[in-house]
Amino acid sequence: MKVMKGKVYLVGAGPGDYKLLTLKGLECIQVADVIVYDRLVNKNYLKEAKPTCEFIYVGKASNQHTLSQEEINRVIVEQAALGKIVTRLKGGDPYVFGRGGEEGEALREKGIEFEVVPGITSAIGGLCYAGIPITHRDYASSFHVVTGHLRADDKSNPDLNWNALAHVNGTLVFLMGVSNLKQISEQLIKEGKCKKTPVALISWATYSSQKVIVSTLEEVYEVAKKEEIKPPTLIVVGSVVNLREALNFFENKPLFGKNIMVTRSRTQNSSLVEKIIDLGGNPIEIPTIKIEKLQPNEQLQEAIQQLNKYTYLVLTSQNAVDIFFDQLDELGLDARALAHLKICAIGSSTAKAIKVRGIRADFIPKEFVSESLYETLAPHLTPQDNILIPRAKNARDFLVNQLKEICSVHEIHTYESVIDFNQKTELLEILTQEKVDYITFASSSSVKNFVQLIGNENLHQLKQSELISIGPVTSSALCEAGLTVYKEAKQATIDGLLDVMIAD
Ligand code: SAH
Repeated sequence: MKVMKGKVYLVGAGPGDYKLLTLKGLECIQVADVIVYDRLVNKNYLKEAKPTCEFIYVGKASNQHTLSQEEINRVIVEQAALGKIVTRLKGGDPYVFGRGGEEGEALREKGIEFEVVPGITSAIGGLCYAGIPITHRDYASSFHVVTGHLRADDKSNPDLNWNALAHVNGTLVFLMGVSNLKQISEQLIKEGKCKKTPVALISWATYSSQKVIVSTLEEVYEVAKKEEIKPPTLIVVGSVVNLREALNFFENKPLFGKNIMVTRSRTQNSSLVEKIIDLGGNPIEIPTIKIEKLQPNEQLQEAIQQLNKYTYLVLTSQNAVDIFFDQLDELGLDARALAHLKICAIGSSTAKAIKVRGIRADFIPKEFVSESLYETLAPHLTPQDNILIPRAKNARDFLVNQLKEICSVHEIHTYESVIDFNQKTELLEILTQEKVDYITFASSSSVKNFVQLIGNENLHQLKQSELISIGPVTSSALCEAGLTVYKEAKQATIDGLLDVMIAD
């Protein structure tokens, strides 16, 4: 019997900012059967994986190893030996203090195929986002990336040539060095480095929560203690630190450091979240809505048994896709029963869900709204067409009404979106424990859902946050709920909402 062996991708996931990942890294996430990931990897990457992908967390908080390196090696080898594609996601670059070399060696030893995908190391990318160029013609002609993880028995770490480090004159970057900051700065001074050399401490580099402190070699330890600096932090020693004032583009973004809660407004969510990130803010998404299937659904069963009547199938959400195909399966049919139909998906995630079921959508409108779907479809339709639309009970009328002007349309309600009270605890926890600067409301229904979810007795928890409304209708819904509108958008659009926060 031929033994199937899988493959492992050792992938550098970059320093944190979601978009600082290579195209190849993203591909490795998308094809993975299993993803093995660390603490410093941006968790949002996991959303890019296949629906069937399995996740294994092997994160390490400092000093508190979840799994030892040997155990991690074993997990990766075992999973690959099962014939799976394993993507091992590591913060930054896999070979910069990431022990990627050891993982590669373990795979090599077991004869398992692997590839390494480099990532943007925090040692370079993290400095960049703090406005510090790692080299500069006038200030640093070399750079040195050093482990700050000194040996417990001998804090001077004989592996490091402190004398050389003190005299190279290039930029020094220490990783994993916060708990040894005192030793690091003292050693460098002892070996002759100027006490006044600028030092920057960069915590959570490239995230909206990035924090940077600038000091000098002689004072940095005391300053760090006062500011309670914790890992993950980069220690940068050298005069390039002084360029920060001129080159700090990231912290100057208009929403940098702002935590913005985005209440669900169905279709608009994703573009608002994207834009908040682009403007340097940290979006907090709370899905206030969950999906309930309408079951049993005789209408849907009947329609599936008579699929020959229809010429088009329109699927307007991932849920609609799942419910439709599950019913098809239950009736003993499969994708072949749809061979004669033109299939239309409302957006890329719906199209992706259809593809998982073995079908490529014929039409995918550019924008995730009914209007765009109608415009894409209308030119192809004739009065003889018959469209099947299995979709949400509380969906807008627009699409069905417009299509009915052209041909027959059969709308079947297959699910309903209802308030998800399971989210209540998490929502209250965020509101009480984190600093939420703004809460955005993009429709009156999002106000109603949000208020119902949180409960009238907890409305006072919103006092610390500024409530931003998209327009007059939403504002009156907020007022009716007894809440204070901080500001209202001049234009009732997502950009209008953002403008309010930017101007603030
Ligand atoms: N392979 C990683 C480094 C792993 S060692 C890379 O190439 O970036 C872990 C150390 O990296 C942390 O202790 C911290 O010093 C640094 N680090 C990683 N990501 C960081 C971030 N976003 N902000 C600050 N430091 C970070």
